[in-house]
Amino acid sequence: MEELSGAQLIAEALRAQNIEYMFGVVGIPITEVAVAAQAAGIKYIGMRNEQAACYAASAVGYLTGRPGVCLVVSGPGFLHTLGGMANANMNCWPLIVIGGSSDRNQETMGAFQEFPQVEAARLYNKLSVRPSSLEAIPAVIEKAVRTSIYGRPGSCYIDIPGDFVNLQVNKSSVKYVECCPPPPISTAEHSAVSEAVSIIAHAKQPLLIIGKGAAYSRAENNIRKLVDLSGLPFLPTPMAKGVVPDNHPNCVAAARSTALLHADVIILLGARLNWILHFGLPPRFRQDVKVIQIDICAEEMGNNVRPAAMLLGDINAVTKQLLEEFSKRPLKYPSNSEWWKKLREKMLNNEERSKDLALQKSLPMNYYTVFHHIRELVPKDCILVSEGANTMDIGRTMLPNYHPRQRLDAGTFGTMGVGLGFAIAAALVAKDRTPEKRVICIEGDSAFGFSGMEVETICSVPPVSLLPNAHYEEIMSAFGGKGYFVNTPEELQNAVKASLADKQTPSLINVMIDPQSERKKQEFPWLTRSNL
Ligand code: ADP
Repeated sequence: MEELSGAQLIAEALRAQNIEYMFGVVGIPITEVAVAAQAAGIKYIGMRNEQAACYAASAVGYLTGRPGVCLVVSGPGFLHTLGGMANANMNCWPLIVIGGSSDRNQETMGAFQEFPQVEAARLYNKLSVRPSSLEAIPAVIEKAVRTSIYGRPGSCYIDIPGDFVNLQVNKSSVKYVECCPPPPISTAEHSAVSEAVSIIAHAKQPLLIIGKGAAYSRAENNIRKLVDLSGLPFLPTPMAKGVVPDNHPNCVAAARSTALLHADVIILLGARLNWILHFGLPPRFRQDVKVIQIDICAEEMGNNVRPAAMLLGDINAVTKQLLEEFSKRPLKYPSNSEWWKKLREKMLNNEERSKDLALQKSLPMNYYTVFHHIRELVPKDCILVSEGANTMDIGRTMLPNYHPRQRLDAGTFGTMGVGLGFAIAAALVAKDRTPEKRVICIEGDSAFGFSGMEVETICSVPPVSLLPNAHYEEIMSAFGGKGYFVNTPEELQNAVKASLADKQTPSLINVMIDPQSERKKQEFPWLTRSNL
């Protein structure tokens, strides 16, 4: 009778759902899951902190349309993912988090790292669930993957009791669930589409706003056709930059405030009227602005502004519907209109102001100068990760995107610290799909600090290992403290003495330990690590 461990079952069930990438920090009780995942062909990346691992997994979801997995230990490990789960869910990005939890027979007894994880995860996820048995794991994993990508995408949490991991099941009793197909495509009601087109036809000052929902749904080809065919001015939200290239003549990003303030009709393609778009309300918008809202999520319709037309459906499919309608009654918004004149004037003005700042010679440099030089050098087809308040905001205006899904930033939740995790994920995805593509991460000091230790993950080869000879002491010297690198007992003694003698400066002593070194032999088997 062939048997399978819980860990192998989880890995095989994930593989059956076409999961390619897993990020995490392993330990009790889920180390075996990472090992089994690698054996099943899933790429596992060991990170320094669960939060960054969760950011990385969520970026995989955005970039590929299939969720990445974040694998974490119980209690504190799980808790560190809350920021990552919330960030993914707020961004409408698919993500699966798998958290080990205490053994079932120790629950409520004060078990090691015990925490009510399923309940805690509920606030941050579309689904928070614990399989009732090993046999239930494949169906639960399929449901989580499906839930994460169907409807409005988001995050899902699966709780795995520690004792499940090494429990064995009879292979023949396991039924894998077939890979869940990509989401079914929904289209908008026909009457809503023609209503939308007649509103656009009567608009005097129309504006197309492209959001990251459009980038996620891979609607770029149809949206580019729509822009070319209609001649409408468009404005991308930060992460929608590149759906239509930023250097397209209809891009009015350099006149953003003016465009928002004076538009009489706004076509909202996969963007929410939240803080990023100033809620769609005065004083940033006209009181009487007519919004044509296109979204996959019915509950989103009418948030803050009652739409003049609601096109409920997949952006790519609905854009195609609009194109078909336009082919019946051709509409080309005139490029010599007063509206275009006003927008162009404002854009010229704003671009001049940025140019002046960029060419300033003063030192230290200002943000504009830095971005000006970076822009000259980076390839057009690169993924730009950007965070930090000024770094991100000014970078958005100064660094153009020419391709979709190539800008990753603090997003809807305004989360700082996402950058290095995003960059790690983007580099992995690029390596497998478009190896020539470079990833460039531009970080403000403060944003870098949140997950700065992930530079170690970035440098690790193979990616599951930490660097045994990493010079951590140099981190202390970088900030003005004293660093010691210690190999021998004498060096250790000297470093400890010197550190204690210096009452002003903090010290970091980096001690090399034999990688084979273990604890002393334990008398009782329950004191060994695996029995903790
Ligand atoms: P931004 O931050 O760029 O303004 P948001 O994250 O606020 O964008 O909005 C993205 C919107 O896109 C969400 O309301 C989400 O429901 C929607 N969305 C996601 N995927 C699709 C899709 N395939 N079709 C239509 N709408 C989608």
